[in-house]
Amino acid sequence: MKFHWKVLGAMVLGLLLGLAMQSMLDGPATAGGTWVARPQGLELTSASGPAAGSKLSPMAAGDVFVAASADRNVPRDQWRRFDDGAEPETRRARLDVAVAQLESGQLLWLERADGEVRSIRLELDPDSSLAAWIAPFDFIADIFLRLLKMLIVPLVMSSIIAGVAGVGRMGDLRRLGAKTFAYYISTSLLAIVAGQILVNLFRPGDGAALGLELVNPSTEKIGLVDILRRMVPENVPAAMTDNGMMLQIIFFALLFGYFLTQVGEPHAPRVRGLVDGLFAVMLRMAEGVLKLLPLGVFALLTRVVAQTGFSVFEPLLLYMFTVTLALVIHSAVTLPLLLKFVGRLSPIGWAKAMAPALMTAFSTSSSSMTLPVSMETVEKRGRVSNKITSFTLPLGATINMDGTALYECIGVVFLAQYYASAQGYEFTLASQATVVLLALLASIGAAGIPSAGLVMMLTILAALGLPAEGAALLLAVDRPLDMLRTVVNVWSDSCGAAIIARSEGETGPLQAGT
Ligand code: ASP
Repeated sequence: MKFHWKVLGAMVLGLLLGLAMQSMLDGPATAGGTWVARPQGLELTSASGPAAGSKLSPMAAGDVFVAASADRNVPRDQWRRFDDGAEPETRRARLDVAVAQLESGQLLWLERADGEVRSIRLELDPDSSLAAWIAPFDFIADIFLRLLKMLIVPLVMSSIIAGVAGVGRMGDLRRLGAKTFAYYISTSLLAIVAGQILVNLFRPGDGAALGLELVNPSTEKIGLVDILRRMVPENVPAAMTDNGMMLQIIFFALLFGYFLTQVGEPHAPRVRGLVDGLFAVMLRMAEGVLKLLPLGVFALLTRVVAQTGFSVFEPLLLYMFTVTLALVIHSAVTLPLLLKFVGRLSPIGWAKAMAPALMTAFSTSSSSMTLPVSMETVEKRGRVSNKITSFTLPLGATINMDGTALYECIGVVFLAQYYASAQGYEFTLASQATVVLLALLASIGAAGIPSAGLVMMLTILAALGLPAEGAALLLAVDRPLDMLRTVVNVWSDSCGAAIIARSEGETGPLQAGT
């Protein structure tokens, strides 16, 4: 059975099992803490569990609350009141009714006596049978995520150094190198801008019931200048010990790869051999870990669906639609326009010629695994010279990922929108600009293997001070998007090869596919 069918099958199974668990097992939501009715409202006498609030929405023992609502947008006078002089038990019971109407993972809004609004994220009652059933899935899902995180640093480092050192070796190809980089960066940026516009238009994360809590948000504001400053590592081994410091690693790896080409014999070949070897091992290891993808996806989906029900998928559907639409716009409008006006080539003819590579990308979800096919296709069917093919495509397979770039941007903004609407995370225009830069770097850093884009998203979230749990949720529905964005990655590489070949005066691509 093809691997992606296994993954899709695991998604469906996880979904069904999660739904079955949710409907058959008892799993009441709880607001934790102890609440006592006072004349002026309900007093939180001990703030434990969810009633301790979150960092952005802290609650303390002694706080008195006058009203609650499941929906923040309902006018305050329609919230369930705790201060209307009704019997104390009645007012106390209103809180339980409000909680019982929500699922665990959803937010309850509370108005404090001083008018401040607090939110608490309801928790699955830890003594319920549902919680006991979820535990093993929780364990498997966590192990899987830890394995993915384990790969990040060595994989990204070795992939970038090997890639850059490989290009630098062709010292006489300076001009070609400059053109190639210019194409890679500009198309990735165009892709990100398309993603950025759509995600701000559809706002799939606003008010989404994702059931994620903002644990430990960093409250410091992170501006673009700071991000740039922090990109330069003070201490490389220290950067390697923290997945959130990925940008520093990318920065160092780019420099290391470049300077590796500047040292002569006998050092360069030795170091290069070592890095190439390390990269090969890491790729195999990633392949091994990804064999567990169906199991990981199954456990992740069962866990979220059992906890929060099907409602998490409504916002995820809109998110998936946004990613897909952006991919379509980039690949069917932006890149064809470049082909037509910069490369003076027929986009349709070129797409037809590239069909074998695009289909391979779709079924492997891996630019690297597709590389042999795309080289063959661009050279034989696209009639691009071997010199340009062998220069641009291997580099493009790891560095030029337009689909991944726009996906990073949409995924991160989606989660940021959620955290901003649900928990007051501050997501400013400057943060949006930062996301553009980070998405570009993440797409450069992502290896051409399945789900690499999602793993890199963890590093962007860390840089923005957002928790990684959000990415776990996106991982549950990642496979179909991965297949699509890999097609766009490979499509952009092939368009790049054609455009560069044309700019070098080659006429072969004009007869592509014939
Ligand atoms: N699977 C993609 C590729 O190989 C990378 C990604 O996960 O975005 O091109």
